[in-house]
Amino acid sequence: MDDIWIHITLFIFGLAIGSFLNVCIYRIPLPDKSIYSPRRSFCPECNQSIKAYDNIPLLSYLLLGGKCRYCKTKISIIYPIVELATAVLFIVMYLRFGKTLEFVLAVIFVSVLIPIFVIDARHYIIPNGISLTGLILGLGIVGIIAYQKGSIDYLRIRLIGFVAGGLALWLIAFIGSAIMRKTAMGGGDVKLMAIIGLFLGAWKELVMVIGISALTGAIIGTLLIVIWKRDRKSPIPFGPFLAGASVVVLLWGDQLWESYLRFAGWN
Ligand SMILES: [Zn+2]
Repeated sequence: MDDIWIHITLFIFGLAIGSFLNVCIYRIPLPDKSIYSPRRSFCPECNQSIKAYDNIPLLSYLLLGGKCRYCKTKISIIYPIVELATAVLFIVMYLRFGKTLEFVLAVIFVSVLIPIFVIDARHYIIPNGISLTGLILGLGIVGIIAYQKGSIDYLRIRLIGFVAGGLALWLIAFIGSAIMRKTAMGGGDVKLMAIIGLFLGAWKELVMVIGISALTGAIIGTLLIVIWKRDRKSPIPFGPFLAGASVVVLLWGDQLWESYLRFAGWN
């Protein structure tokens, strides 16, 4: 297949997965809904079930002008953005990893990170179900890749990443809570960091993810307070920063590490 057809297929596949991730993003935080029931999508405002032709990723949002066909309530722009971001990231991962199992691992990783990013930003929680799904799928593919490579090291370094990632963030949360005398970070962040370690491996990847997310979190947290006059006491979820940093390290980790060492004069 020509590369252009692979890109088009991946884009459409990414939109479809993004649409499923939207179902997760909307329903998982709600106590009375699950991703299986109700079967059909519905408008949260007027409860009308949404017809298949109004449920095409990205396209339906544009054709409906971002409003429900029946009650004209605005549909959040987050949903088409999630679909587009998923599709674009799938293509970016293909450009980075090509036709490999690492590409499959990367696609699963971003499909776990995207709903965590949005749900944590909105609700300040990282649902256990998503982390657990990431753990099971991640372990499976990592195991298959290790078997295919005939490399027990590949598996070992990722299991170390899982344990060390979780422990590192637990320690940071523990010390942070002791200093600030309040919960600095939730258990959801600790579990997420363990998953990140499983997908990315140890050790420099863990250092980079924690470093980049702490830095960007501090910058954006300061901007929120200084420019947008947000209350100093209002919580800032850490999950979105961990997720964003993970994608950066997944794509450019090696180059980033090289330039950091050169910059620090160690290389
Ligand atoms: Zn409606």
